[in-house]
Amino acid sequence: MTDIKNSLVEKVFFQNRNIYIKRDDLLDSEFSGNKARKFHYFLDHDFPQIKKIVSYGSNQSNAMYSLSVLCKIKKWEFEYFTDHIPSFLQANPIGNLKYALENGMRLKLFNECSYNELKEKNSLSKTIKKNDTLFIPEGGRCETSRYGISLLAKEIIEFKKENGLKVLYIFLPSGTGTTALYLQSSIIKHNDNSKVFTNACVGGKEYLIKQFFALEKDEKYHPSVLDTKKHHFGKLDCKMYRFWIELQKNLNIEFDLLYDPYGFWYMMKFLEKNEISKPVMYIHQGGIKGNVSMLQRYKRKCI
Ligand SMILES: *Cc1c(COP(=O)(O)O)cnc(C)c1O
Repeated sequence: MTDIKNSLVEKVFFQNRNIYIKRDDLLDSEFSGNKARKFHYFLDHDFPQIKKIVSYGSNQSNAMYSLSVLCKIKKWEFEYFTDHIPSFLQANPIGNLKYALENGMRLKLFNECSYNELKEKNSLSKTIKKNDTLFIPEGGRCETSRYGISLLAKEIIEFKKENGLKVLYIFLPSGTGTTALYLQSSIIKHNDNSKVFTNACVGGKEYLIKQFFALEKDEKYHPSVLDTKKHHFGKLDCKMYRFWIELQKNLNIEFDLLYDPYGFWYMMKFLEKNEISKPVMYIHQGGIKGNVSMLQRYKRKCI
């Protein structure tokens, strides 16, 4: 896999509303979702000096898995730092961790010194090259992500034209906010009037807006952030689990469990509350390889 093709758009009917779903989860069986968009830049360019990628984040991160695929394709070493790994997971890896390890990732635990150095690098929101090693910030929160997300913006604008839509309201849930930010700014730079809405799944609204400013100083390129209740990232919420099941039953689409139930839920609430009748698109950003570990936890807790 070295080529990312236009992802398809599906039209679904849910709670009395037509919704377009941009199926970025189907871009490729291995390299999919918004992490494929973010790391597309590295696929399309040559890096003759680079032999190794270093990144860090959680032990079930979608970015970690996607970087392992990228490194396999590019024949790069991949070193990934995380701050904790439960012994049961280490003994019996599942989900993203299992597949990333199978792709040759070397998992490393922080020690005090590496932690401070990596934290500092990570806060800069950009890739850092040192000799033959490239450091990529957590979740691909860096300028290089703009390249692939701009291609996503182009596909959406093309779709809108083909379907004679005057305006499009685009929704996607945020972690670092990188995808939503670069999507809205690329749309504006392509002179299109589509509006991007997002909700914070990590931290709250203020944290998310701070993330936008770290990547783009000019507020006019920022997406709109929906008002949502604060929740702890990764914390189980049975209401959201049941909603995820309802989505799957009604739309016959498997969504991710960490972001999508919240994104879809708050989108529906927002559309209803503001009586919005304009065409709506939801972006499926992949990540379903991580569902197995979330499902284990959810099945224990909720019925
Ligand atoms: C990484 C990820 C997100 C968050 O993307 P950001 O660009 O960090 O906001 C959302 N959904 C899925 C499925 C992801 O893997």
